[in-house]
Amino acid sequence: MSAKHTIRRELKHAAADDTQRVLERLERTCRVRGQRVTRQRRAVLQVLLAEGGALTAYELLDRLRRSGGRSTPAAVYRALEFWMDSGLVHRMDSTRSFVLCEHPEGPHPGQLLICRQCGTVIEAEDKAVSEAASRLGSRLNFTLDVGLLELTGVCALCCARGRRTQPAS
Ligand SMILES: [Zn+2]
Ligand SMILES: [Zn+2]
Repeated sequence: MSAKHTIRRELKHAAADDTQRVLERLERTCRVRGQRVTRQRRAVLQVLLAEGGALTAYELLDRLRRSGGRSTPAAVYRALEFWMDSGLVHRMDSTRSFVLCEHPEGPHPGQLLICRQCGTVIEAEDKAVSEAASRLGSRLNFTLDVGLLELTGVCALCCARGRRTQPAS
């Protein structure tokens, strides 16, 4: 597995200490780029990191408020926009939710596989899929939006859970 793929996976099994370390690493990246990490921006990132999956802006706001923060929808959106511009967060149109980028080192075409049962998001970079999509676009004279291709379905864990809970036939 390449190092690029590790942020969310690290987090899934991470203790609070590790979460803090990943957060510090991301903040360092921002400082190097000359971007300021305000308290609100940090809090939003922290919630997404802890979640390890996708959240809508309102779920984010709810989590922030529950942890004692005073936040407004506008402030959450501003923070999300900052992180999207920085390339650390992706917005998924299909679910209107936000997820941490697994390869924030630079812009990347790719795919997001979204589980419609548990909300898990897997970020993939399959060149063949991106190329096939752009070939399809040009064949049909269709200018595709730039961004990640969103594919919905059911993740392996939910599949396994479904099999376990289904009555034997
Ligand atoms: Zn990404
Ligand atoms: Zn799932």
